[in-house]
Amino acid sequence: MGLRVFDEQSNYVLFGDDSRIFLYENLGDSLRRFNSLEDSSELTRILSRVEIPVKKEVNLPEIRTLLREGPIGQLVLDIANDCNMRCDYCIYSDLYPNERKFQKALFMEEDILRKALHFYLNRAGAEPKITFYGGEPLINFPMIEKAVSVCRELTSRDVSFSVATNGVLLKNQALDFLMENDFFLLVSLDGPKEVNDRFRCFPDGSGTYDIITHNLERIRELDMQYYESNVSFNITLPDLDKTLEVFGFFESEEILSRNKCFPHRLVPTIALPSSLGWHGQSDELIEGYVQCVQSGKTVSEPLKGEFEPLLKWFRKRQNDRLSGATWPGGMCVPGLKKLYVDPKGEFFMCEGYNSHQAIGNVDEGLDVEKILRLVSTFTSIKNKLCSSCWAERLCYSCMASAKDGLNNEISVGGLSSFCPILKDNILKTLYIEGRLTTH
Ligand code: SF4
Ligand code: SF4
Repeated sequence: MGLRVFDEQSNYVLFGDDSRIFLYENLGDSLRRFNSLEDSSELTRILSRVEIPVKKEVNLPEIRTLLREGPIGQLVLDIANDCNMRCDYCIYSDLYPNERKFQKALFMEEDILRKALHFYLNRAGAEPKITFYGGEPLINFPMIEKAVSVCRELTSRDVSFSVATNGVLLKNQALDFLMENDFFLLVSLDGPKEVNDRFRCFPDGSGTYDIITHNLERIRELDMQYYESNVSFNITLPDLDKTLEVFGFFESEEILSRNKCFPHRLVPTIALPSSLGWHGQSDELIEGYVQCVQSGKTVSEPLKGEFEPLLKWFRKRQNDRLSGATWPGGMCVPGLKKLYVDPKGEFFMCEGYNSHQAIGNVDEGLDVEKILRLVSTFTSIKNKLCSSCWAERLCYSCMASAKDGLNNEISVGGLSSFCPILKDNILKTLYIEGRLTTH
């Protein structure tokens, strides 16, 4: 098939393959299909109406009030800055010189845990959500047990617990406890044995696939219903030449095919050359997805995970004429949607920005003025970089995607290094939506 961009101007993009040409125009925020580039008079007529995108603007007094009193969505507790594995592409490996490194014994302790839970549960909405994160959180399993009992002391609300794990320690008492307390388990697994074990390995270089799949089988034996509803997979695709093989594996393996999957790529700074950009195997995935939807067949979990989050984002867009100024796309207010607490009790905005730009701590709470400065800086970055970009209305770039690999500030340079990936993903989404909705 081969999707190509024919023209990319400030407020529209013309794209498609040889048989279908699509126009996405910013003004009407709409998609139209043409039979060929020869339909130029109609194109010219439409493009003459395209206008300059709107300015990004935020209401700082309103955000200040929300930061002081508003509900906090999710708490992410980073309870262990260490791991029992050493994946080659890990964000804490030497590939990322500016990120934190695994440090032995930097585990969260009970006093920090209590303060973090106290702060969060005082500010959480009706349905508190707590995720345990690391490194590998299960190497500090006593803190998970402690957190559940402290939550029961502090609130009568139902708290939803989840853990992001490499799956190696999902066994014995830890597993029993997680299952009894209805934990959601996000397990990292990259595909069949030879694909997974190429990067996901122990410190001695040996692979992890056999242990993880053995643990998954055991959970299935214990409680199939729990397994299907509470276990999902985080799939990293470091080598896009393997994409079809990996998707096929998750679609066909009995122990994986009914569970949710979240495929993702490496960030540009460490990606293998073959893991960036539009790729022949992306076309096949798109075709497979479109054919399933059009023929009413069940869409496989990896294809859903690959395409549906962005399709949902696209479909909930504001597609009428926008007012003079809008919120900057995918930006959340740091600390409100999600609050990340590291083992020392420092607050950060999320897993993607978890060792620089602290936004408070368990003793002093949120640093409201620092967060407002970050929000203002990001808004001005978006205004500088994005006003001439056709993708501006649909772009989901957030502060973590603007992190500069050199000095860990948010910057125009940091955000622009992500633009090719953002645009690729938005184009794929537009193309799928075009295939599904135009006549
Ligand atoms: S399991 Fe996760 S935290 Fe551990 S080395 Fe691998 S990528 Fe890093
Ligand atoms: S972040 Fe990049 S891709 Fe997104 S709107 Fe701005 S310039 Fe375009």
